[in-house]
Amino acid sequence: MAFEALRSEALACVRCPLAAGRTQVVFGVGDPHAELMFVGEGPGREEDLAGEPFVGRSGRLLDRLMAEELSMDRSRCYIANVVKCRPPNNRDPEPAEIEACRPYLEAQIDLIDPRVVVTLGNFAARLLLGTAQGIKGLRGRPYPFRGGHLVPTYHPAFALRSGGQVVAEMRADLVRAKRLLAAPPPAGEPAGATADGPVALPELGAG
Ligand code: URA
Repeated sequence: MAFEALRSEALACVRCPLAAGRTQVVFGVGDPHAELMFVGEGPGREEDLAGEPFVGRSGRLLDRLMAEELSMDRSRCYIANVVKCRPPNNRDPEPAEIEACRPYLEAQIDLIDPRVVVTLGNFAARLLLGTAQGIKGLRGRPYPFRGGHLVPTYHPAFALRSGGQVVAEMRADLVRAKRLLAAPPPAGEPAGATADGPVALPELGAG
């Protein structure tokens, strides 16, 4: 199966310097046929040890919001990250590391072919939308993405640091994703249609 072959390839990956410092490659978790996919930034210490994304404090918030707003657990969606290996000391991933890892994420999205992708934080939104804009300005609306939709939201670690208002906005974003999952696919866009490059962004207001 193509997904398993991709996973095996990723588990042996040495395309960037992050390979040297990892305990485990954190490829992703969940249903490879899911209609909903989350994309985070990169594994932290707990994920590196467990080999699974979002198992620390951020993950517990994500699980809770998923249960409360989408009535689902992680087995019914798919969760992956922009980079599959832990950056040392939880630093941001470098552009070269993101580029080296990008084919794995692109292939995961191609094979899973989700109807809705929810990006968590700046790195995933910027990479998948092909923009330099920050999450604060991007969130609050869905974007057309590969025949489906992309819903940008905050990273749960940022929500944990920031508190009530940011968590409330994350909840609203998940409700947005839920509505899109319930809606029929956009007319004229067969499931599986793939954008050739960065997605054109609609006009955005100030802020
Ligand atoms: N933060 C992420 O972006 N991904 C994880 O898997 C864990 C924390």
